[in-house]
Amino acid sequence: MKKQPSKAIIIGAGIAGIATAIRLAVQGISVHIYDKNTEAGGKLSYIAKDGFFWDKGPSLFTQPENIEALFRLAGEPIADYFSYSAQDIACTYFYEDGTIVHGYTNQKAFAAELAAKNNEEDASVLKYLEDASNAYKAIGNIFLNKSLHKRNTWWHRSIFSAIKTLKVAYLSSSMHKYNAATFNHKRTVQLFDRFATYNGSNPYKAPAMLSMIAHLEHNEGTYYAQGGMITIPTALEKLARKLGVQFNLGSHVDSIMVEKNQVTGIELNKKKIPADIVVSNADVYFTYKNLLHDNAMAERFKKQERSSSAFIFYWGITKEFKELGLHNILFSKHYEAEFTSIFSTKELYHDPTIYINISSKLDANHAPAGSENWFVMVNVPAGLDTSKAETVKELRESIISKINRVLKTDLEKNIVQEHHIGPKDIEADTLSYLGALYGTSSNDPLAAFLRHPNFNKKIKNLYFCGGTVHPGGGIPLCLAGAHIVSDMVAEATTDNI
Ligand code: FAD
Repeated sequence: MKKQPSKAIIIGAGIAGIATAIRLAVQGISVHIYDKNTEAGGKLSYIAKDGFFWDKGPSLFTQPENIEALFRLAGEPIADYFSYSAQDIACTYFYEDGTIVHGYTNQKAFAAELAAKNNEEDASVLKYLEDASNAYKAIGNIFLNKSLHKRNTWWHRSIFSAIKTLKVAYLSSSMHKYNAATFNHKRTVQLFDRFATYNGSNPYKAPAMLSMIAHLEHNEGTYYAQGGMITIPTALEKLARKLGVQFNLGSHVDSIMVEKNQVTGIELNKKKIPADIVVSNADVYFTYKNLLHDNAMAERFKKQERSSSAFIFYWGITKEFKELGLHNILFSKHYEAEFTSIFSTKELYHDPTIYINISSKLDANHAPAGSENWFVMVNVPAGLDTSKAETVKELRESIISKINRVLKTDLEKNIVQEHHIGPKDIEADTLSYLGALYGTSSNDPLAAFLRHPNFNKKIKNLYFCGGTVHPGGGIPLCLAGAHIVSDMVAEATTDNI
């Protein structure tokens, strides 16, 4: 039996940091979170102005059971903190040829829609989704819910069912090739290729294994967090505070203190704050570079390919667009060329795929009556400098002209509010290297193994959570990472791991 740590410090109040705090507090540890920002949530933040409200970062909410689990663990009724509703349509897809496809969350309705619009066979759509489900449950269970860097993961019984589910094509083929070999119509291929962007990757490079992401939307479904995505960190912060977690907001941590290969605390404003455990929810590259001053490790993680970043316009629109839903995609004509721009030539693409999220469709108080709150996002290369007025103008014009063309409208006259952010703003706001949305990309079949583990092999009691470490970015994975970290802490206090 080992000594139970009495105090943990978490650097960063991103979604993974808060979830880790809750889990450690439930273990009876005194938890103290530090974040440089004055509000908790990291990439989940918001803009509110003149009757309009926009979630600033994530907009797609899947796997609410990860949030439910935190409340269950804490013994608190979730209904007192947070509510959400299942959606019938995950996304509405618009193509330049005038076709509109509704991405129903019900598998049969979705298969029927793809049969009607794209001449697909119902059976091949349903088989694809079934394979995605099997892969997610068997392979995903290991790659997402366990540490890949602990021996007991590889001795677990579930490894055998994972191997049985593994198709050669999952590793040997790109996601695009796999989709192109499955579906009849290039519109369907483009729709399924898009799931690679859910972790900021390129479907023409990423392994077909990522086809399992479709499982989330079309087998498990998508959800709306009532009040907007910001209610997720708000509810979790409230739960954490109820458990006694101390939030130190507006506090930029300067370094992690290490003595004799063991963490001893953090340093902030020249003040040393001791702790038995430190969990970094900060970007792993910046953790090594700025907090541990370990340039060799920092350089190692700097070299890895980043996920895509984004440029986002937040527009107040004085019109209601009946054809649009909560999530909408206006596809580019040449998808491969778009990804080449994002990952190879690293420049703006002239005809980007446009994502429009309109939460006022479900939350009337997110926009004045008769108006809508548009979150308009295009994927751009991580680190792209979009600070120049001409760059913003070029992007704005290409986005508006595409929206006008596809929706047959004249958008400009309806824009009454405008804000925008690009990769450098995301980096500055959340200290995420190059403003990458999901840490490193999954373009390499070995990406899961290259991502940093949730612990440090040389420094005892130093842990890592969040989108830049295992199992990766996106809210569900960040929450899975928090679970892995808390299990490691629990195991370390009882037995050898
Ligand atoms: P982060 O949100 O990165 O927060 C880290 C925190 O650490 C920050 O608050 C930062 O201030 C703090 N910090 C860092 N260094 C220090 C320091 N030295 N001292 C003090 N504080 C520090 N995911 C989805 O699931 N669905 C989506 O639809 C989706 N869309 C996205 C759209 C956009 C525009 C963006 C930006 C992201 C999107 N994501 C989406 C990804 C998702 O937001 C992230 O994967 C997730 O929120 C990352 O959480 P995290 O816990 O890693 O921490």
